[in-house]
Amino acid sequence: MRILVVEDEDKTVAFLAKGLCEAGYDVEAAADGEAGLRLARNQRFDLLIIDIMLPKKDGWQVLAALRREGVRTPVLFLTARDSVRDRVKGLELGADDYLVKPFAFPELLARLRSLLRRSPAQRDEHLRIEDLDVDTRHHRAVRAGMPLNLTPKEFRLLAHLVRSAGQVVSRAEIAEHVWDIDFKTDTNVVDVVVRRLRAKVDDPFEKKLVHTIRGIGYVLKAS
Ligand code: CA
Repeated sequence: MRILVVEDEDKTVAFLAKGLCEAGYDVEAAADGEAGLRLARNQRFDLLIIDIMLPKKDGWQVLAALRREGVRTPVLFLTARDSVRDRVKGLELGADDYLVKPFAFPELLARLRSLLRRSPAQRDEHLRIEDLDVDTRHHRAVRAGMPLNLTPKEFRLLAHLVRSAGQVVSRAEIAEHVWDIDFKTDTNVVDVVVRRLRAKVDDPFEKKLVHTIRGIGYVLKAS
C-alpha cells in the first residue's frame, strides 16, 4: 500500500512517515501543492493525505485538480482549523475524510484503514474527462458510452494525455511515454499517432478534447 503525504511542515511529515512506515505502508512525501499534484498524477497511490494550507497550491486546489482529471484515489485532508465551512468545502470537492491537527496517530491510522477498506474498487484506475472514460487497468476507453477501438500505442497516448489533462504535453514527452525512447528528431511520428487517435476519440463527437498547441505539442481538455 502506497501513501502520498502532501504537507509542508517537516515535523508532521516526519511524524506521519515514521508511523506509517511502522504500520507497513510505503510513504512518499511532497512539501508543496504543485509537487504533490505532480506525484499524484504520475504515480499510483492507494491513499493521499493532503494538508490544506500548502505553498504554491493549497490542498483544495490539489484535490479539485485531481478530481477534475478523474483521479479517484481516496483523500484524507489535514487541517489546522476546524470550521464547518472548511469541512463542507473539502467534502464537496471530493475529500473522503477530514482530520484536525493536532491529531493522535492511532486516530489517523483508524481513519485511513477505514478509507482503504471502503475503496478496493478505486484501485482500478478510471480516468475521466467529460464523457470520456479511460480504464487503465483493463486498457479500455469509452466515450459517450461507445467503446473506442484503440491500438496499444493509441491507448498509451490517450492515457498519458488524460493524466496530464489541462497541461500541454510536448511531442518529445509523448515520444518518451508512448515509445519509451528519447528522440527529438522525427516527431512527425507523434503527429501521425495523434491524428489516428483523434479520428477515434474526437471525430465522431461534436466536442473536441484533443487540442493542438502549435509548435509545442498537444493538450487534452474539456473545452
Ligand atoms: Ca501546512
